[in-house]
Amino acid sequence: MDRSERILMAHGAGGYIMHKLIKEHILSILPRDSFEVGLHALDDSAVVNGVIFKSDSYTVKPLFFPGGDIGRLAVSGTVNDISVMGGEPIALSLALILEEGFPIDDLDRIIHSIADTCREADVYVVTGDTKVVEKGSLDGCIVNCSGIGRRSRYLDYNFDIVRRFRRDFKARWILDSNVKPGDKIIVSGTIGDHGVAILSCREGYGFESSVRSDVRPLNKMIEKALSVGGIVAMKDPTRGGLANLLNEWSEKSGVGILVREEDIPVRDGVRAACEMLGIDPLEIGNEGKVVIAVVAEMAEEILEALREAEGGEDAAIIGEATDEFEGVAMETLIGGRRIIPPPLGDPVPRIC
Ligand code: MG
Repeated sequence: MDRSERILMAHGAGGYIMHKLIKEHILSILPRDSFEVGLHALDDSAVVNGVIFKSDSYTVKPLFFPGGDIGRLAVSGTVNDISVMGGEPIALSLALILEEGFPIDDLDRIIHSIADTCREADVYVVTGDTKVVEKGSLDGCIVNCSGIGRRSRYLDYNFDIVRRFRRDFKARWILDSNVKPGDKIIVSGTIGDHGVAILSCREGYGFESSVRSDVRPLNKMIEKALSVGGIVAMKDPTRGGLANLLNEWSEKSGVGILVREEDIPVRDGVRAACEMLGIDPLEIGNEGKVVIAVVAEMAEEILEALREAEGGEDAAIIGEATDEFEGVAMETLIGGRRIIPPPLGDPVPRIC
């Protein structure tokens, strides 16, 4: 092994490079658990004795950005990872690491934002920790937000509907490994908003944009979708965006996934910024979107439920799982087909 290897920004960017680090330097060393959904599943949350459990740290730069801030991001991110397992978030922890000299005014703004987002999602902070490090050790503030949830009251009903169309369906949780050929893929709205909003307020990128972050808790939207039924997999397209999400599903479920470029909702401002910067909207992180794999027979009803929910107005069916090929491919606007490889990492560093 090369002893001079060092951590790179790409190791935290949610793509292939990060997954490799986790597999080689963390998973291979920690003792293997045998919980319902354990660490080796590398799913959005774990499930331990029926309790859904999630931990996430937030290092977004800048701390305040168009459409949100690190506080709203922390609550939403943790709530969303619990919700996409088929869980109902209950309680959160809040650990703050503050830099010496950080304005108390900024801390107040962040905590008020956390309070507002907790009310929106109907969750509570019940435990926490506060630490301070010397000036220069970090950019102002880092937040860790962990959370627990219970099985959604609609999850068993959701699976009853799945089994109506897929008799041999056995999973007890919404998992990345549940996708089968024929399932429809739905996204709850436009992609790329969060990453572009973050970039637009960073120095040195030299572009103005009216794009705002989509950051929001999705538990209520997801609960509504589960009450319709037929969902097999769900995931939030955060770091590495839609491209990373679809590749994770393809790999863990052993299916091909075909999406259509013309059906993937992208705002004009996001498209323009991506073209200017030479980055792919499919690889940019989102913080208020969910992607759902659903049995084909229920796709239209799920789509309707998403569109009725707040933040789901632009939901769209973007493709389906297939056994005709492996990996992820996209039918492009000009009629060709291109492979969507797993991104090396999100093109925008420190977006969450
Ligand atoms: Mg997630």
